[in-house]
Amino acid sequence: MRVAVAEKTTKFAGLTLDEKLDRLAEVAVKVGLALRAGQELIMTAPMEALPLARKITEQAYKAGAVLVTTLYSDDPSVLARYEYGPDASFDFAPVWLQDGIANGFRSGAARLAISGANPALLAKQDPAKVSRANVAMSKASKPAMELITRHEINWTIVASATPEWAKLVFPGEREDIAIAKLWEAIFAASRVNVDDPIGEWQRHGERLKKRVDMLNEKRYYALHFKAPGTNLTVGLADDHLWAGGGTMAGNGIYCQPNIPTEECFTTPHKDRVDGTVRASKPLSHQGTLIENITVRFEAGRIVEATATAGKDVLNRLISTDEGARRLGEVALVPHASPIAQSGVLFWNTLFDENAASHIALGQAYSTCLIGGEKMSDAELTARGANSSLIHVDWMIGTGEMDVDGIANDGTAEPLIRKGAWVSQ
Ligand code: ZN
Ligand code: ZN
Repeated sequence: MRVAVAEKTTKFAGLTLDEKLDRLAEVAVKVGLALRAGQELIMTAPMEALPLARKITEQAYKAGAVLVTTLYSDDPSVLARYEYGPDASFDFAPVWLQDGIANGFRSGAARLAISGANPALLAKQDPAKVSRANVAMSKASKPAMELITRHEINWTIVASATPEWAKLVFPGEREDIAIAKLWEAIFAASRVNVDDPIGEWQRHGERLKKRVDMLNEKRYYALHFKAPGTNLTVGLADDHLWAGGGTMAGNGIYCQPNIPTEECFTTPHKDRVDGTVRASKPLSHQGTLIENITVRFEAGRIVEATATAGKDVLNRLISTDEGARRLGEVALVPHASPIAQSGVLFWNTLFDENAASHIALGQAYSTCLIGGEKMSDAELTARGANSSLIHVDWMIGTGEMDVDGIANDGTAEPLIRKGAWVSQ
């Protein structure tokens, strides 16, 4: 098997960057979105991701897209707001634009986000302003976000290497080398560095589905996580549903919402989380880096939170609303995932959350409950699903982590030992 992989890797290595970008774009459009002919596509991208955005636009039109509209974000323009904008700016968001996007989704548009903005862009800005701006944006984008989190439409996220992100991931390297290294890491993690990336994604998706089916059959009451610094019991929501490896969207299109994806995830019970958990990686939260997070839960609620850097941002984050102190997601990822094995810390949730088992503060995915898409907010809450303006994943898994599934009668079954799935 090793030989075969090496052969395939060599072939991919022979491609130009332009051809490699085209491969990633093809996977994004055909696998990530499974874009249908006649569909509209709404894309967001950092300015520096222009080459990938263009390739995705080409692939989308080749797949029959009726119109591709891309909204670009520009880092210096974002910083100009913090430097020169009036105080009132930070409680403001373009509601008209977000409503327009939501309308686009309702009339059949697909959604693609290119991730790659500088993770430390706002690190030196006033955390209070950053938080206010985030809250204003979360409120404005709620109608659009709901259509995404309820998987009403086909959507996906892919990443582009960008200069500031690359320099953060590979400090000490020359900029062009750092960018090249980050691109290679993205291609490997996104499983496009093989002969037949579309087929590889099909097989990968099937493996994840098998694991998800097993977990859904077990119907555990809780999960127990044990690792140095961590002793945490996460109760699962009533009627919880495990997901992973692709989603059937409400519009009938089977999409892969994250490229890469390695996780099996579900909805925890918002009132049944107890114990202490230590983050296994730093968290990059909207421009700020939060390091060495340790948190203690009682009856689902964070009662103690510490971090060696970015503690202010962490405290503001968990004070966003009542649900920000509770869990909305729990996810299992083996330490053998290609992203974990790369040893690269990406400072980007899309990658880092697929390198380790993780939990997320805030909003739960209603699709991770049986029949959840059709439930009212009150029905979701009654089953233990959390609600919040935020959804922030942070990594807790390591090569030393053990995870048990706890049955209704309290018996424990080993699921993960030293970071690896017990059953294959
Ligand atoms: Zn996740
Ligand atoms: Zn998440």
